[in-house]
Amino acid sequence: MAELSPVLKQATPVLAARGEGVHLFDEQDRRYLDFTAGIGVTSTGHCHPRVVEAAQRQVGTLIHGQYTTVMHRPLLELTDRLGEVLPSGLDRVFYSNSGSEAVEAAVRLARQATGRQNVIACQGGFHGRTMGAGALTSSGTKVRAGIGPMMPGVVFTPFPEAYRHGWSEAEAVRFALAEFDRLLVTVSAPVDTAAVIVEPVLGEGGYIPAPPEFLTGLRERADRHGILLIADEVQTGVGRTGTFWGHERAGITPDILITAKGLASGFPLSAIAAPEELMGRAWPGSQGGTYGGNAVAAAAALATLDVVRDEGLVDNAAEQGSRLREGLRKVAAEHPVIGDVRGLGVMVGNEFTTPEGTPDTETAARAHRAAAERGLLLLTCGPHGNVVRMIPPLIVTAEQVDEAVGLWADAVAEVAP
Ligand code: PMP
Repeated sequence: MAELSPVLKQATPVLAARGEGVHLFDEQDRRYLDFTAGIGVTSTGHCHPRVVEAAQRQVGTLIHGQYTTVMHRPLLELTDRLGEVLPSGLDRVFYSNSGSEAVEAAVRLARQATGRQNVIACQGGFHGRTMGAGALTSSGTKVRAGIGPMMPGVVFTPFPEAYRHGWSEAEAVRFALAEFDRLLVTVSAPVDTAAVIVEPVLGEGGYIPAPPEFLTGLRERADRHGILLIADEVQTGVGRTGTFWGHERAGITPDILITAKGLASGFPLSAIAAPEELMGRAWPGSQGGTYGGNAVAAAAALATLDVVRDEGLVDNAAEQGSRLREGLRKVAAEHPVIGDVRGLGVMVGNEFTTPEGTPDTETAARAHRAAAERGLLLLTCGPHGNVVRMIPPLIVTAEQVDEAVGLWADAVAEVAP
């Protein structure tokens, strides 16, 4: 008999037996409101009938085509369909299985295309756990401690964190961009800098939306210095932030876009997209993988994109996200332990803070647990784990949002009366 590695730590005690829409059910058929969406993956909800149907049909037709051996129709159709939602000009797509792999692919491409080595990443960013993506990650030392040295050539720059510093957004942006400029003259000269990678909403690092001026500031600097701008939309993409891509709000276009998670409603699929001229500079054979662009995952992604369009899920994410934040702000107003409620679309964080203004990890953990006991599944994030985040599927309804806010209010009242 074998057991799971203790390296896996579960955020909730639930043994999930099945999922349906916004709900998970355990083996006793107890119903949970799932505001984790498998870490922002089940965009169309659990087992959306159209995704299930598309996947089942594909399973009986061709499971594994292997895209460097033979090509298959689902991947061609998905690529064509992605062309309708990708930023204009980013019309060459490379597929892999996970967010981390896609981040690795973006870095490989950026280095090959520019002939430069360094990648600038934001402090607090999360890009994955592989040695390359992990090297770009600084949302918490648990991803790195005892593991290094990781990929060399990574330089960190501050992300604008207004709440943490007690600054206005404008002050936080001014500081972050000034530090970025300083890096280019002190640590990583433009001739050495291949790319800067940024999450449109800092995810695992604490659910902090990037102010649009930060993204436009990075875009300007990238253009000025021949540095590529990589948008890591693994968590923010496919409608989660209330626009199809999280960077759209800033009116910029990245050079390389990374997508995964919500793209295939739970099937492992990730992709990077870049202009033809840029993608064409990847050396043949330098990207690939046995499972990348799997036929069943591609069919599920195609169905996902159809559902997102046909059910108006991007607008729904914007609408329900506003409703969620409004409800959560009322809870925070009654419980000063929640110092900040923030987010974009259905990507919302509640930051727990002590009266002295330091992170209150313990109360956040207790609120998280009390919510799960009431049937509301949530996750925490932030370097101190003191941000309780809510990431429901994009199909969430106003009634489900209200139910979640009610359960949350009870949970917070129990742990911080
Ligand atoms: N980038 C971001 C922004 C993420 O949120 C994540 C996962 N949380 C990753 C990359 C890594 O994705 P994966 O776990 O699929 O490798």
